[in-house]
Amino acid sequence: MDPETGKQLTICPWLRKAPNQNKYTCDIYYDRPDDCRHYPTSINEMIRDECEMIEIKDVTNQKQAQKILDKLMADSRPPLEKGH
Ligand code: SF4
Repeated sequence: MDPETGKQLTICPWLRKAPNQNKYTCDIYYDRPDDCRHYPTSINEMIRDECEMIEIKDVTNQKQAQKILDKLMADSRPPLEKGH
């Protein structure tokens, strides 16, 4: 929500487009919330959000793609609780 207008935001206020480039950065990258640190958690989530990083082979072999994603994200995710 925009604190001034009370309206729902359509994009994150911390997202910045690099000038003259098709690149975006996060203004609070090092202090970003946990939801941002842990995203994406699943291939389904990437498909749902139409993530630009998803490839055809990820959609056709989602199990393998999930394994690769889990490896890539291992450092960004909290450790699993004991017993998992
Ligand atoms: S990482 Fe999170 S805080 Fe940063 S721009 Fe993206 S959605 Fe916003």
